[in-house]
Amino acid sequence: MTYRAYAEIDLKAIYSNVATIKKTTSAEILAVVKADAYGHGLVPVAQTAISAGATWLGVALLEEAVALRKAGIYQRTIAWLTPPGEDFVSALKHDIDLSISSIALLEEILAASKTLGKKARVHIEVDTGMRRGGLLDEWSEFLKFIAIHKDDLHIIGLWTHFARADEPDSSATQEQIIEFEKYLMDLHRVGVVPEITHLSNSAATLAFPSAHRSMVRLGIAMYGLSPDVKTLGDASKYSLKPAMTLKGKLSLVKRAPKGSAVGYGGTALLSDDTKLGVVVLGYSDGIPRNSNSDAGVWIDGVRAALVGRVSMDQFVVDLGISTQAKAGDYVTVFGATPDDRGYSIDDWAAAASTINYEIVTRIASRVPRIYLN
Ligand SMILES: *Cc1c(COP(=O)(O)O)cnc(C)c1O
Repeated sequence: MTYRAYAEIDLKAIYSNVATIKKTTSAEILAVVKADAYGHGLVPVAQTAISAGATWLGVALLEEAVALRKAGIYQRTIAWLTPPGEDFVSALKHDIDLSISSIALLEEILAASKTLGKKARVHIEVDTGMRRGGLLDEWSEFLKFIAIHKDDLHIIGLWTHFARADEPDSSATQEQIIEFEKYLMDLHRVGVVPEITHLSNSAATLAFPSAHRSMVRLGIAMYGLSPDVKTLGDASKYSLKPAMTLKGKLSLVKRAPKGSAVGYGGTALLSDDTKLGVVVLGYSDGIPRNSNSDAGVWIDGVRAALVGRVSMDQFVVDLGISTQAKAGDYVTVFGATPDDRGYSIDDWAAAASTINYEIVTRIASRVPRIYLN
C-alpha cells in the first residue's frame, strides 16, 4: 500500500448494521446515502445496504439520485431536497421519487410531468414541529391544490422529520407524531391516501418504535455510529459497528526538546523531551482544525495525542521518547485497531466540539476510500 492516507470502509459492518436494525422493525428500510454516503462512498454503500435488505434509498440532492441511476442502481430512490429550478424532467426520466414542500415546487413538478407525459412519484413533506423543511403555512391552500391534481400524480408518501428524536425523555417527538396524524387525516378528507408514511431518522428508529410506520430512514446508524452518544449511548449498545477507519502515514519522526512550542501560534509546549510524529493529514482532508489534545492517533498499541494546531495538510502527535515508530509507518487516526484501544470517531468529535456526522462527512475526496468486503 502506497497511499499517503486512506479511509478504509468496512462494507461488512454496513451490511451487519442494516441487518441488525432490520431485525428490530417490521418497517421497510430506506438507506440514507446522501453526501457520498456520509463520506463512505455512494455506490458501494448503496449496493451493500440493498443486499442487506434495504428496499429504498434516500438522498438530499437530485444529482445524488441521478448518480445512483448512472451507476446502474434502480432501487426506489427519493431525492428530498430540490429547490425550484431543478431538472425535474430528468428526475422523472430516471424514476426518482420527489418530495413536495411547497405549492410552487409541485407546480414545477407537474409541468415537467406534462412535458414528459409521465406521472411524477411524490412524497408530501409536512412540518410537524422542526420548522425546517415541509409544508406549514400553505397547508390549507395545498389541500385544495392537491385535491384538484391528485390524479395527475402518484402520491406515494407522506413524511416528516423529527427535531429531537435523540432525546428519548422529551415529549417533542410524541407531539410531532400527533401533528403528523392530523396532516394525514386532512389528506384523507380530500381523498388523498398516500401509500406509505415515514417519519423516523436513526434516533427515532432506535428510540421510538411507535414512529417506525411504513418505513424508517436510516442514516448515521447504518454507518455504525450513535445519533447522540450522550443521550442514546454508544453505538455498541445497539450492536452497531463503525464502518470507517482513517489511516495516514508519518512523514517524519524526530526528537524535540522540552519547552518547545509546537505548530502555528506555538499553542502547545512540550513538557518533556519527546519524539514528535508528523501525520500527513490536515484540515483540507477533513481533520478539524479546532481539535484539542483529547484527539490523537494509535500506533503499535500506543495512543499518541495531537500536539498544537492542525495544519492544512498535516498535524503533529507526541509519540513519546521511547517510540519505535518511524517515517513511513501508518497511524490509525480513528476507527478499528487490533487491540481496540485506538481513538474513535466519537473521540475526535468530542475533541473538536462537534458530532460524529461531521467528522465522517467531511473526510475530503482527496483521501481515497479503500473497501473491505
Ligand atoms: C439525513 C436525513 C436522515 C438520516 O438522519 P440520521 O440521523 O443520519 O439517521 C433522515 N431523513 C432525512 C430527511 C434526512 O435529511
